[in-house]
Amino acid sequence: MTNEEGEEYLYKVVMIGDSAVGKSNLLSRYTRNEFNHNTKATIGVEFQTQSIGIDGKEVKAQIWDTAGQERFRAVTSAYYRGAVGGLIVYDITRRTTFESVSRWLEELKTHSDTVAKMLVGNKCDLESTRNISVEEGKALAEEQGLFFMETSALDSTNVRTAFELVIKEIYKNIS
Ligand code: GDP
Ligand code: MG
Repeated sequence: MTNEEGEEYLYKVVMIGDSAVGKSNLLSRYTRNEFNHNTKATIGVEFQTQSIGIDGKEVKAQIWDTAGQERFRAVTSAYYRGAVGGLIVYDITRRTTFESVSRWLEELKTHSDTVAKMLVGNKCDLESTRNISVEEGKALAEEQGLFFMETSALDSTNVRTAFELVIKEIYKNIS
């Protein structure tokens, strides 16, 4: 996609994080306004493209989702290649997924040169079984130089806001 000046605004964004934190549902909520209660129904699509308008320009994000290979810690370097943005997702009810964040970040840094990264604490609708406080999430994000947001793919809280903040930050840095 090009504008009148022949410039192209197409950004690769990757979703990473442990299995079952809600990556696929965040993406389907954002791009199709859909939520799936059954994990196994997740289709292993490579990416979804979403356009937003910034400064009167059409900016496209190609958002990549894993096909479940994170279960085997086998996300390949090809997955990260060329990514300029990343969403590192954990589940606010499962501490192990929060503890994995630094490992995912290392992998992202090793294989790509991102300009915008966000730590996403998903499933904030599950307040009664929360295990990671908002403060803890914020502190980790600050320490690692990431944006931070809690989301719910189930009730839509902050989903659009999170993706669009990352896309706008990329645009601001490399357009
Ligand atoms: P992925 O493995 O990270 O892609 O996770 P999925 O998107 O497949 O979601 C894993 C499970 O968590 C599924 O059963 C989803 O229905 C559920 N899930 C995903 N997001 C949310 C959320 O925001 N709130 C709640 N309560 N469940 C969610
Ligand atoms: Mg998935």
